[in-house]
Amino acid sequence: MTEQESHVEIPQNHPRRVSLLTRAKLTEGVRQGITSLDGLLAHGRGEAFDYLLGERTRDFAARAIEAAAALFLVAKRPVISVNGNTAVLVPQELAALSEILDSPLEVNLFHASREREVRIHDHLLSHGARQVLLPEREFVLPSLQSNRRFVNGRGIYQSDVIFVPLEDGDRCEALIQSGRKVITIDLNPLSRTARTASITIVDNIVRALPLLVDRAQALASESRSTLDNLLKSYDNGSTLREAEIALREVVHAAGSAP
Ligand code: ATP
Ligand code: MG
Repeated sequence: MTEQESHVEIPQNHPRRVSLLTRAKLTEGVRQGITSLDGLLAHGRGEAFDYLLGERTRDFAARAIEAAAALFLVAKRPVISVNGNTAVLVPQELAALSEILDSPLEVNLFHASREREVRIHDHLLSHGARQVLLPEREFVLPSLQSNRRFVNGRGIYQSDVIFVPLEDGDRCEALIQSGRKVITIDLNPLSRTARTASITIVDNIVRALPLLVDRAQALASESRSTLDNLLKSYDNGSTLREAEIALREVVHAAGSAP
């Protein structure tokens, strides 16, 4: 979505330009019936953490991105789960990642509606995606509640590694319990999703996804043992601790300012 398409004019030198453009994509996503209203609130929660983290990719996030790329590349059947926020924020990058990993995109919504699923499907195709799967009533993940238990038989149902950026904690926990490995992007290192996932990228999806595409591309030519070693040396607990310390340092510094 270009700035023109999103009906906003934000001055080039506005200090919160990127943040405002990102918001504009989401509000336009709501107008187009792709993003849910609840998605706007979820984004607001993410923004607060991003503000505290200085709106930049920290070292702990860069390490998690590297490990995530390695895990995707060693996976037998990786699948990329897409919701209404991710679809409007990073559609081209989702398509590029899907291409590099030879992994399908699959629409799965917290606030499910067939109409919105189809809109997201079409939106992704118009941004270069080649394969976008939709949930099917005959394929069910028993560990999940609600409509989200319906998945695609060629996608999430068969997956061993699943990418669920901006995810709700219940679903992340259920996917882990089902024996799958889960990679997430979540600006809140204290959320249930962040704490349950196998790999947690604590960064804004608009910065993290281009980096992830880049790292997946670069590591695709590496040997299996290089990828395995990368994964062996990665510790998600350290990522979460470092992210939490970074947040606490900012809050502490603000509290002790004269
Ligand atoms: P949980 O259910 O995991 O405990 P939650 O209920 O606080 O988390 P949800 O609304 O279920 O939050 O999930 C949205 C998550 O995505 C939040 O943790 C929010 O910080 C994060 N988030 C929102 N927008 C972005 C973004 N653009 N980039 C990265 N993370 C984001
Ligand atoms: Mg939640």
